[in-house]
Amino acid sequence: MKGSMRDLYSSFCQSGEVKLSYTRFCAYKPFYVVPKDLHERDTCLCEKCENFRLLIEPLKRVKAIEVNSPAALVRAMCCEDKNFDCYQRSCSECETKGIPFVPCEDEEKTVKVSKWVRVNEEKQSNQGKTFNVTRTVKKNMEESIGNIKAELAKSCDGFLLHTFRESHQTKVLKVKRENLDNDELCCL
Ligand SMILES: [Zn+2]
Ligand SMILES: [Zn+2]
Repeated sequence: MKGSMRDLYSSFCQSGEVKLSYTRFCAYKPFYVVPKDLHERDTCLCEKCENFRLLIEPLKRVKAIEVNSPAALVRAMCCEDKNFDCYQRSCSECETKGIPFVPCEDEEKTVKVSKWVRVNEEKQSNQGKTFNVTRTVKKNMEESIGNIKAELAKSCDGFLLHTFRESHQTKVLKVKRENLDNDELCCL
């Protein structure tokens, strides 16, 4: 995605075919459509990162968590100068820092939450043959605040390790690219 979401939205509005609010337009953006510039991103925006963000979003909406993004959650739980120990929760400085949940009066209250899931579908070819395809679709559900908190807590360790690997790989690749010899090539 070369332009910003705002630019894309204004081009979309000019096409005049469908009327949609900006919020809804953003909600329909598939997770794999990402900004071209890596520095504009908080996370790698894979399905895992996006589903983690989608758990934080409803909690933030009902003020059940103090942070508003996965990156802010990592900052809240890990040391400022993070290393692998912080991400795998074995750093003596930050291992006791938990997810900054805010207690709610009614944890049973249900709220809207979305998740990217893979679904298998049967399609028919032009020749009438049936074949299976797997699509990733955004599923909208209702879930209790307590369950969303539990789901976030359950996926947090895996998300932190994933974030470490992603940022580590990006750093290593950057160093490799910057130190290429004249007769070397970096293929991604
Ligand atoms: Zn990711
Ligand atoms: Zn630490």
